[in-house]
Amino acid sequence: EKLGVALVGLGGYSTGQLAPALQETKLCKLSGIVTGSPEKIPEWKRKYNIADKNIYNYENFGTIKGNDDIDIIYIVLPNGMHAEYAIKAAETGKHVISEKPMATSVADCQRMIDACNKAGVKLSIGYRLHFEPHNLEVMRLGQKEVYGEVQSITAEDGFRIGHGGWRLDKKLSGGGPLTDVGIYCIQGAIYTKGEMPVSVTAKYHEVDNKEKFDEVEQGIDWQLQFADGTVADCKTSYAENLNLLRAETNKDEWFELSPAYSYSGIEGDTSKGDIDYKQVNQQALQMDDFADCIINDKKTPVPGEMGLRDVHIIYAIYEAADTGKKIQIDQRKKMLDWR
Ligand code: NAD
Repeated sequence: EKLGVALVGLGGYSTGQLAPALQETKLCKLSGIVTGSPEKIPEWKRKYNIADKNIYNYENFGTIKGNDDIDIIYIVLPNGMHAEYAIKAAETGKHVISEKPMATSVADCQRMIDACNKAGVKLSIGYRLHFEPHNLEVMRLGQKEVYGEVQSITAEDGFRIGHGGWRLDKKLSGGGPLTDVGIYCIQGAIYTKGEMPVSVTAKYHEVDNKEKFDEVEQGIDWQLQFADGTVADCKTSYAENLNLLRAETNKDEWFELSPAYSYSGIEGDTSKGDIDYKQVNQQALQMDDFADCIINDKKTPVPGEMGLRDVHIIYAIYEAADTGKKIQIDQRKKMLDWR
């Protein structure tokens, strides 16, 4: 019997990626939805055969408790709403996945972790790239020092945003492209080096469109510094298409992914030849891994603690850009425990 997943928030990511991925999962399936938009219900019922008793709204969300068709609640709402609904989800006794960024403050991340611990449920973050073979190979090459010690990293992720919606509203987003796609550069730098950075410096990009970017940054450059002197030069933007993860080693070797962070079409190259794996359904593997962790009581490689770590670093980057100073990264937030 497959575990049942309920998607909370039926926006672009749920509709375009997660629901289709749940048609390919082996250990879990789409069994419920939570939506504030009743007009979306008929199409979801038709497409995915969802039972009426598994369709919820934000008012009756708590009554998911006791519904045996639902084992996992997946929060796919605007960033600023993750904490509230992840905590409500934990209180129903169901396991929880929150989309990235985990929340819009470290304190909220901690509240989510505490709520899941208190309820005795598992918590993971939607870090799909931890299940993508090219990115897994970069983790191996970097962490096992296959081509030598990584000395410098370049990580860039950005896209040209359209009207933007909640993503340009700071209360709902927590910030601009850094919280949205720049988080993949933080992730990439850490899983390539296999260490926690110790400090950061940062600078905002100049703003071309002051009306659009009146609450959140248009773009930002930052540098993560590691204890051994390694640096990761990172960049994110809502005004440029960027998609790169590259590492250089002390043996003059290099490896890179470009694009690195997409849903598919990831390509890898190194100074010693291609990184060539088949494309996978990242979200299907991510959700199946979490189901496996629940079924076999294992630790997820992408737990709440990793989400909190990255949110801490995001706000250290903003502090560095706001003050122009080098900001120390709290080593107590260290979380490197992936497989
Ligand atoms: P979206 O705007 O397409 O969907 C957001 C959903 O939230 C909509 O269904 C909307 O109706 C609902 N919603 C409820 N209350 C709302 C409110 N007050 N304001 C605005 N919308 C509200 O966004 P999305 O792209 O699906 O992103 C949702 C989450 O998923 C975000 O946290 C985002 O970072 C994450 N995401 C992750 C990935 C990934 O690759 N892991 C990709 C895209 C999005």
